[in-house]
Amino acid sequence: MEQNHNQEERSELYAGFSTAFKSFATEAIHVGQEPEQWKSMAVVPPISLSTTFKQSAPGNHAGFEYSRSGNPTRNCLEKAVAALDGAKYCLALASGLAATVTITHMLKAGDGIVCMDDVYGGTNRYFQKVASTVGLDVSFADCTKPEELKAALKANTKLVWIETPTNPMMKVVDIKACSDLVHEHDKNIVVVVDNTFMSAYFQRPLALGADICMYSATKYMNGHSDVVMGLVSLNRDDLYERLKFLQNALGGVPSPFDCFLCNRGLKTLHLRMERHFKNAMAAAKFLEADPRVERVIFPGLPSHPQHDVMKRQCTGCPGMITFLIKGKLEHATTFLSNLKMFAVAESLGGYESLAEHPAIMTHASVPEKERTALGISDTLVRLSVGLEDEADIIEDLEQALAAAHPKKK
Ligand SMILES: *Cc1c(COP(=O)(O)O)cnc(C)c1O
Repeated sequence: MEQNHNQEERSELYAGFSTAFKSFATEAIHVGQEPEQWKSMAVVPPISLSTTFKQSAPGNHAGFEYSRSGNPTRNCLEKAVAALDGAKYCLALASGLAATVTITHMLKAGDGIVCMDDVYGGTNRYFQKVASTVGLDVSFADCTKPEELKAALKANTKLVWIETPTNPMMKVVDIKACSDLVHEHDKNIVVVVDNTFMSAYFQRPLALGADICMYSATKYMNGHSDVVMGLVSLNRDDLYERLKFLQNALGGVPSPFDCFLCNRGLKTLHLRMERHFKNAMAAAKFLEADPRVERVIFPGLPSHPQHDVMKRQCTGCPGMITFLIKGKLEHATTFLSNLKMFAVAESLGGYESLAEHPAIMTHASVPEKERTALGISDTLVRLSVGLEDEADIIEDLEQALAAAHPKKK
């Protein structure tokens, strides 16, 4: 009975979404983890801390020379992630931003980058305050309107950077429409999708026409808020050769211990994402029905402007919810200060529920005028809904709303 009930609930939650990727869980658990690769036949990949590897004769080695160039534990992780992205290759980097920097180093002075206008703050800062000072020509476009992206492409454009859904406004970009449009303009332009918010379980940008799928694995991919890491997946041999060279030449590699943890995190990615979706949908519905809430922005709700695109290109929805509380700044801050289970903190995608105030916290560096243009107002609150019990999540939201609006209800 319980089993049937859950299955019905699940199918309702996923109605209209793309079907789940075949054998995802099996691959997350087994690809790259083969015990036969170790003399010990270890079922769980060991943490290989050695920085160097013995050569039987000069230049004659068993695949590893020096740990920056290649590491056995990192190898296991890279193979698993490639499988989960439906990719030929994956490279692990020291952070999401290290991945962004490594990808951008494929360009040279004078080359152009077109970036989605609403991207992770650190990506925006890197493109505007670092890349553009060394001769890269950076411009921004609202990729939710493909004609704006088309108009932004120039003769020197070499890289198009998309993020979907965006942070914190949750704008959803049609990856296939944008990739096709860019590649029709010039097939050599590299289309990158920052897939951090979705994880490999809910979205495969490469299958939708993107050239590179990148992650801040710090978020859902690792999922336990204890590793800072970046990942890059791709199919094109030429780009892989170049990025593999840059991974070693620039040196932004993760530690074997972090690779071990992220590889372990992937084993439960499918279970975690399903629970994030279920809990977030319950929280989003609760908030949307509440008179103390002005508006809820959650791509899983029919009220989201790109809900149809989301369903078409994704297999589910992550735990990120943005909402506007009724009132002023003080209502938002009172709500946040009164949360008991949700921690008020930056970052997202871990097993624990987090809440934050973008205008004061994650997006404070965005000038007020730009914040207003993007819709990041003083009453905007962002939630990363975790894996706790649904009833406790709703109860915490309810009591914090009551604290913010004591007279109503
Ligand atoms: C956190 C984040 C990044 C940056 O990744 P780090 O691991 O913090 O360097 C990039 N993109 C998105 C969408 C993020 O949330």
